[in-house]
Amino acid sequence: MTQAMGRQSIFITGAASGMGRETARLFSQQGWFVGAFDVDRAGLEALQTELGADNCLVHALDVSDKGQFEAAIAAFSTATGGRMDILFNNAGIAMRGFFDEMPLEDQLRMIQVNLVGVLNGIYTALPLLKATPNALCFTTSSSSATMGMPLIAVYAATKHAVKGLTEALSNEFRRFDVRCADVLPGLIRTGMPAEDMLASAPPKGPFRVIEAIEVARTVWEAYQSETLHWFVPSELADLDKAAGNTPEQLRDKLGAHMKI
Ligand code: NAD
Repeated sequence: MTQAMGRQSIFITGAASGMGRETARLFSQQGWFVGAFDVDRAGLEALQTELGADNCLVHALDVSDKGQFEAAIAAFSTATGGRMDILFNNAGIAMRGFFDEMPLEDQLRMIQVNLVGVLNGIYTALPLLKATPNALCFTTSSSSATMGMPLIAVYAATKHAVKGLTEALSNEFRRFDVRCADVLPGLIRTGMPAEDMLASAPPKGPFRVIEAIEVARTVWEAYQSETLHWFVPSELADLDKAAGNTPEQLRDKLGAHMKI
């Protein structure tokens, strides 16, 4: 008998904190077997203590390293008997600043983690997803994939890429009966946004502060659904529409709001 003992299973990157961690907790509470992967070993150990060693597999993983990803998927596959109901490619990093003032190395690192990391995950996990009925390939994009946001230009570019990739693969993977979807979160209270961003956030509207558990609930809902893009909060869908309909207007509004 495998460690997962026939339970449904989710593979989560960036699981040591923030929305990945909340998703691990929620799915575990629902009786799922959780594979939790991250570069933060201490965070993973704390999660394992909380969930119980029988209910999860924790494993160090830098998503930008294809070899490490293969080892992580192999360990997960052994634990679940080759089953993966959800691949949640969630790990990400963000660095803020004017494009021309940021070192190219930092920009390239964001591409390695936020985009190449996602590609590594999908390539490596696909055999398991194909082998699992009703599987879902789910990825964390961002509200910055509605319209490119100043000061996080390359971060936003990686999240646009994730959104486009999800749209394309959701059609391609019909051949395998594997669904694809993504979440576009606004401002979520995790370790990622700077303290001052959280403190100065508006109390209402699409960029109010949202708790990470809301994203976890969205992953749960997405598994029961065929919806492609999940906006958290849902009002962000209006921004997505505005970016499609009147991009110049939205660009100018954003620039004025950010005093650029
Ligand atoms: P977080 O910093 O709390 O969690 C991110 C996790 O990813 C951390 O545990 C970190 O150790 C891990 N990680 C970083 N680099 C890694 C790597 N190379 N390999 C494996 N793990 C790595 O932040 P979060 O907000 O929970 O971020 C989760 C996702 O949500 C990210 O993709 C982020 O871009 C996206 N996002 C966040 C917000 C927000 O406001 N917090 C909004 C939109 C999108």
